[in-house]
Amino acid sequence: MSEKVLLHYQDTSEDLTDILGYVDDGGYRAARKALTTMIPEEVTATVKESNLRGRGGAGFPAGLKWSFIPKGTDKPVYLLCNADESEPGTFKDRQIIENDPHQLLEGMIIAAYAIGCKHAYIYIRGEFGRGYKVLEHAIAQAYEKGLLGKEIFGTMAEINIHVHRGAGAYICGEETGLIESIEGKRGHPRNKPPFPAVYGVFGCPTIVNNVETLACVKHVIEKGADWFKSIGPESGPGPKLYGISGHVQRPGVYELPMGTSLREIIEVHAGGVTAGRKLKGVIPGGSSVPVLRADEIDVAMDFDSVAKAGSMLGSAAIIVMDDSTDMVKALRTIAHFYHHESCGQCTPCREGTGWLEKILIRLDEGKGTPEDLATLDSVAKGMLGNTVCVMADAAAMPVRSFLEKFPEDFRDAVNRAGKTASPVAA
Ligand code: SF4
Repeated sequence: MSEKVLLHYQDTSEDLTDILGYVDDGGYRAARKALTTMIPEEVTATVKESNLRGRGGAGFPAGLKWSFIPKGTDKPVYLLCNADESEPGTFKDRQIIENDPHQLLEGMIIAAYAIGCKHAYIYIRGEFGRGYKVLEHAIAQAYEKGLLGKEIFGTMAEINIHVHRGAGAYICGEETGLIESIEGKRGHPRNKPPFPAVYGVFGCPTIVNNVETLACVKHVIEKGADWFKSIGPESGPGPKLYGISGHVQRPGVYELPMGTSLREIIEVHAGGVTAGRKLKGVIPGGSSVPVLRADEIDVAMDFDSVAKAGSMLGSAAIIVMDDSTDMVKALRTIAHFYHHESCGQCTPCREGTGWLEKILIRLDEGKGTPEDLATLDSVAKGMLGNTVCVMADAAAMPVRSFLEKFPEDFRDAVNRAGKTASPVAA
């Protein structure tokens, strides 16, 4: 795939934050096509056929998710766009929001039409001040042009979009935490089932989709499911935004076909690791997924291939670490984040994240013991699969994988115990 579709603001002189520029660039054609020539079930069927899988982390098929809305429900149906983008290392959705907001709105109009939703929300993290302003402006323009509100394109369709600002909690990126937060409560994740498609926001059927997923919807409808499936692997095709940060020459967001190799993304697109250094490890999908060693980067960056390689595609946020990286210190920083962000409802997560951080501080400060390594692994193991949401797993998986993939760093930390004290990680 050579054409840019999701980041097409990079290839046009039009200002796509302005509705006129977006329409000049072909914008809102897909929404017109969906609302005036397709029935809602056809839209869902096309998205199902495209095998578009959610870009937020879980990779669940979007069309299948939409089809879980109970048929003939007498309750209002809601669409929530998850723009919380809270996974460390992830900054791809922000590109769409800040530079091409109408693409997101168009995807939302199509999705809302497909599921029978009149009121959709964008839940945007509080820190995204610019993105919030850009969205508010874009939404106001869409209302002015009759693309939101009643009788869109002269049809009976009514679709409204509201923006809800979060306060910057990681856990509000979890769909049920997000739902609680929109309802004005603490962002405490809910037990599932019931799943949001049946009992979501305000107790009504709700679909939660990621920004990039909704941006893809516009292209699926405009160009068709076969076009979408022609890009990348059959099991999860389409264009993909990869965010790459850390020790590379050209960090940034790259739009490439799903399944591009991790080596190509690092060495070709991001220009390779820092000059004069060697690659040591890579986190392929945001800080919560298992780390890979330098000799494991010949993997296709798609859902199934990364899973086969023992990690997860997650949000495709690639964090590169060169051979100057102290893996104990890096893991300490990650553990601090998850400890800080645990909502505290579940004991294994609330206590476990604290224990992990305390042990890692001890190791990093040269006060660790050989038993600490076994305890670290056993605490992390006990957190897996035992909690209301997957945040405990998100905190535990990096710990187990860092210990497995870089045992020498942890042994060195124990061996230097009592000899040196390392500076505290930020
Ligand atoms: Fe809260 Fe952690 Fe339990 Fe998730 S796993 S509900 S973040 S305590």
